[in-house]
Amino acid sequence: MDPVTSALVRLLGRHAADPPQGRVADYIPELAVANAEAFAMSMVSVHGHVYEAGDVEQSFTIQSVSKPFVYALVLADLGLDEVSRHIGFEPSGEPFNAISLEPGTGRPANALINAGAIVATSLIAGTPEESFTRIREGLSAFAGRTLEVDEQVYLSEAETGDRNRALGYLTLSQGVLGRSAQEATDIYFRQCALRVTATDVAIMAATLANMGVNPVTRKPVVDEAAVRTTLSVMATCGMYDNSGEWMVRVGLPAKSGVGGGIAAVLPGELGLGVFSPPLDARGNSVRGMAALQETSERLGLHMFTPPGVHRSPVSASSVEEDRLILALRGELDFVAAEGIGRHLQEMAATFPLTAVDLDVTDVTVVRPIAAELLQATGRDLLARGIRLIPSDREKVPEAEGSRDGDSSKD
Ligand code: GLU
Repeated sequence: MDPVTSALVRLLGRHAADPPQGRVADYIPELAVANAEAFAMSMVSVHGHVYEAGDVEQSFTIQSVSKPFVYALVLADLGLDEVSRHIGFEPSGEPFNAISLEPGTGRPANALINAGAIVATSLIAGTPEESFTRIREGLSAFAGRTLEVDEQVYLSEAETGDRNRALGYLTLSQGVLGRSAQEATDIYFRQCALRVTATDVAIMAATLANMGVNPVTRKPVVDEAAVRTTLSVMATCGMYDNSGEWMVRVGLPAKSGVGGGIAAVLPGELGLGVFSPPLDARGNSVRGMAALQETSERLGLHMFTPPGVHRSPVSASSVEEDRLILALRGELDFVAAEGIGRHLQEMAATFPLTAVDLDVTDVTVVRPIAAELLQATGRDLLARGIRLIPSDREKVPEAEGSRDGDSSKD
């Protein structure tokens, strides 16, 4: 198992061991049957590398995690000026189903509370069928595979969704809804009932991290301007009335859903998808939030701790006979160490190496998580008969177990 995957597996294990908290959504019977123990996390880099841990094969309904992606589609279709006539940008600080209409304009506060999300959905053009097809194909392009509707969940949402219909009628009366309230909410219920896995959600998030190009399929989904607006609204409004504290503690634009999923984005770097059905009183996955918070802390992913130097950490890489000479530079954080780890694995698979000389002279800072990952990569390589030798073991420790046997060779 590669070091990033084993870090994710360990992290899930720690949180799975905590006593279960929260309640599985039960406002419709189909959601209440969800397996409360299911727990998964996936991470996808903008290079398209997918790391998975836990129950990644289990699917669940996307629910409100769909909102930022539909918002991005409507921004891409209509542009910011037109969309902003219908939906605002302010955190409501209120629960997901609050009325939150702006006095004067009648616009819902933002696209991530239900009122704003229903308006966003209503703005996708065409007949109801065409509009839903655009949404389903758009979200499928974000995920890189065809997503299907859970008909049971859709039907019971449609049966019980009076409050959402009321939000539809209210926004219609304010002149901001793009079609009839009945049609808009029906499309919205189908959108919420699309089934996804934690990996789908991570790839969708990574497409936002990669400025609208799906990093796995390499296909463009939405333009950069649509992504920028979507991420801004996710950063300020994504976790409903918990958005401010989320930004402080986790520091990643995110969106949760009552199916137990959460999407989180580190712009320019990676997307994360977590899944665990029990929710807190605000409708956010309890374990999902805890796992994301720890991931952000341990891996140093908070948006407002940007790396000191934005450039490749590899300054030179060459192979001489059975040795790889790799020179690194700048700050080594999680993202840098993940990239170096992958480069080393690729080189080890391509050349018959026995050693890697890691020149760390120009490395300025080594974050603990980067040192840990490099050591784990060193252990991996050692198991394949390749020794990873840092030029300065104070900066980057060598993998355990490799020093003794080799000190004679130095
Ligand atoms: N379908 C749900 C609703 O609109 C989604 C709520 C959520 O995931 O937060 O009520």
